[in-house]
Amino acid sequence: MLTRPDVAIVGAGPVGLAIAWRCASRGLRVAVHDPAPGSGASQVAAGMLAPVAEAYFGEPELIGLLAESAARWPGFAAELSEASDQEFGYRTEGTLVVGLTGDDLAEARRLWSYQEGLGLPITPLRPSQLREREPALATRVRGGAVAPGDHQVDPRRLVAALRVAAGRAGATLVPGAVSRLSDVDAGVTVVAAGCGAAALTGLPVRPVKGQVLRLRAPGRGAPGFRHVLRGYADGESVYLVPRDSGEVVVGATVEERADTEVTAGAVLRLLRAAVDLVPELAEYDLVEAAAGLRPGTPDNAPILGPLPGRPGVLAATGHHRHGIVLTPVTADLVTDLIVTGQSAPLLAPFTPDRFTAEEERTWN
Ligand SMILES: Cc1cc2nc3c(=O)[nH]c(=O)nc-3n(C[C@H](O)[C@H](O)[C@H](O)COP(=O)(O)OP(=O)(O)OC[C@H]3O[C@@H](n4cnc5c(N)ncnc54)[C@H](O)[C@@H]3O)c2cc1C
Repeated sequence: MLTRPDVAIVGAGPVGLAIAWRCASRGLRVAVHDPAPGSGASQVAAGMLAPVAEAYFGEPELIGLLAESAARWPGFAAELSEASDQEFGYRTEGTLVVGLTGDDLAEARRLWSYQEGLGLPITPLRPSQLREREPALATRVRGGAVAPGDHQVDPRRLVAALRVAAGRAGATLVPGAVSRLSDVDAGVTVVAAGCGAAALTGLPVRPVKGQVLRLRAPGRGAPGFRHVLRGYADGESVYLVPRDSGEVVVGATVEERADTEVTAGAVLRLLRAAVDLVPELAEYDLVEAAAGLRPGTPDNAPILGPLPGRPGVLAATGHHRHGIVLTPVTADLVTDLIVTGQSAPLLAPFTPDRFTAEEERTWN
């Protein structure tokens, strides 16, 4: 790129690429820096777009942002497939939450009662109703619920489509890592480097390891179930994400670790829970076992907005378990902020100063 970019984006994961696409589409000159685009958490992510089944106790503001982003997904997916001429496994069958034993069901029910109480769309189903929808479920499954608005996308294909769309809109990819923000010369710099954001900004983003398996249906056919299944099986929490390609993603561990080793114990627990819920999975090929690092934050919510004391630098990081579902809303709000200089009210709970202010309070 010969001229100084209006916007430099550090990180070509789903978040950075979606911001690049949106900014370039608004006529800005955009450069995206990354030594290995798409090699972060999105490389292993399952791609659940689950504002309901992933809504946990005590995260009300995050739940609002998840719902807002999920509502933007249909329009975002339609625009992206038109802009890229690519498909990325966006599917809308919905999610079934299931419990294997009485205790598992009690655990699942506790969470979905909370979700129902918030007015989120989730409806309990009897075991017979569950099996009508998904005959592949084990006969032992004691009950569950359906979250019809919880959808899915294939994150690897999403990143590929975003690269094409951003490139066609005029964004340039600059291969190579950024080691200091002062090395980047641009009107605005957006740090969208996932776990790499901590070293660049000092923000409290930490790696949260997740191990994931990929199975493949025999004979290259589609998996024997269509819904995303989020299950509790003998105390283990597991999800199963079926793709049209025949792939089933089985995930995921949640570990406060920064390595990406795959352990025998995690593979054993994930497979046991998966096969307990859907017995036919025992016949599938095991094609991949991998681990990725979620960009976690102290309150599990993303960090979006201006970096205090660093004029012209914005953060778009810390998406933790939700970076895929939060991609549309993040890209829209950050792009609006860059183009108009105005911060949308929706951003207010997620700005970086919630942590820097806390640090100042601690030290004063
Ligand atoms: C096991 C697992 C399962 C998940 N499942 C889901 C799910 O079902 N649904 C969901 O919504 N989310 C899920 N996530 C979370 C999701 O993957 C992340 O929140 C999302 O990928 C964050 O996107 P990102 O673009 O911010 O970061 P990343 O995807 O991590 O990408 C960061 C990019 O920045 C680059 N980078 C880093 N440092 C630098 C630097 N110094 N200079 C230049 N480039 C740099 C990296 O090379 C990388 O390409 C899952 C994550 C894991 C690990």
